[in-house]
Amino acid sequence: MWEKFRDAIRDKGGIVQMESCVERVFRDGNRITGVEIRQYADGKETTQRLAADEFISTMPVRELINCIEPSPPTEVMEAADKLKYRDFLIVTLVLDHADPFDDNWIYIHSPDVQVGRIQNFRTWSPEMVPDADKASIGMEYFCHEGDGLWETTDEELIQLAAKELEKLGLANADTVVDGAVIRQKKAYPVYDTEYRAALDVISEWISSLENFQTVGRNGMHRYNNQDHSMLTAMLAVRNILGEKHDLWNVNVERSYHEEFVTEKKSEKNSIEAA
Ligand SMILES: Cc1cc2nc3c(=O)[nH]c(=O)nc-3n(C[C@H](O)[C@H](O)[C@H](O)COP(=O)(O)OP(=O)(O)OC[C@H]3O[C@@H](n4cnc5c(N)ncnc54)[C@H](O)[C@@H]3O)c2cc1C
Repeated sequence: MWEKFRDAIRDKGGIVQMESCVERVFRDGNRITGVEIRQYADGKETTQRLAADEFISTMPVRELINCIEPSPPTEVMEAADKLKYRDFLIVTLVLDHADPFDDNWIYIHSPDVQVGRIQNFRTWSPEMVPDADKASIGMEYFCHEGDGLWETTDEELIQLAAKELEKLGLANADTVVDGAVIRQKKAYPVYDTEYRAALDVISEWISSLENFQTVGRNGMHRYNNQDHSMLTAMLAVRNILGEKHDLWNVNVERSYHEEFVTEKKSEKNSIEAA
């Protein structure tokens, strides 16, 4: 979907610059004037400064506040340093047989294993598993960058995941024929006792900027799904076109997420599944 989106922008004459990381954000009073990006192309690193009239950011809030020059007021800097993140890694295992279960995913609560959730990719879409004779299973581990799990080698993680799959009675470890590990930093914004007050200080300051908006999950330090992230981005664009939306108050109701009706009570509950 996003590749099609990128192509549509390019077809209309827009520029989508990949492999580019914003490292500095420049401001003049309450206007943002430009950004400096570091680019990686053909094995070379270059930096480039870009100016613009309007900015929308999806950078993690803590990172953003720390790269604005001149720095925001001290209380905003201190608030940003209070925001915390949870990281995540997924060990994808290829099994030489049919899917071990029919569900999309299973949450694991057993203290006997470290895996927190298991994905069955084919049930999301057959396109995700190119070989119909094999299964593809994602063993998800919630961790912190730099902790024991994060630092474990890919090979050891694949062995651990295979062993845990067997321990849970889902498949024998020796049916694992291949595996790959993806580490995702800042997968989850952490809601602790400090984050709300800190975010209030930060959002108030960001709202005082004339031409700069933050959107999305880490961009607003909000534990939201894709639909909400996209909605904040769409409203940010409408703000640039003259509408007035308070992005910090979009989807404050958790029931917006994913809803289901329980069979027994027939009452609405909401779940957070991401
Ligand atoms: C394990 C997991 C499972 C999930 N499952 C679901 C699900 O089933 N359904 C659902 O709706 N949601 C799900 N989510 C949530 C969903 O992924 C997020 O809500 C959504 O991706 C947030 O969109 P975003 O644009 O805010 O952030 P992202 O998708 O993270 O995009 C932010 C972008 O900003 C870029 N960026 C950051 N810093 C810089 C910088 N300095 N310079 C340049 N670029 C930068 C990043 O590279 C990235 O491309 C899941 C999340 C996780 C972690």
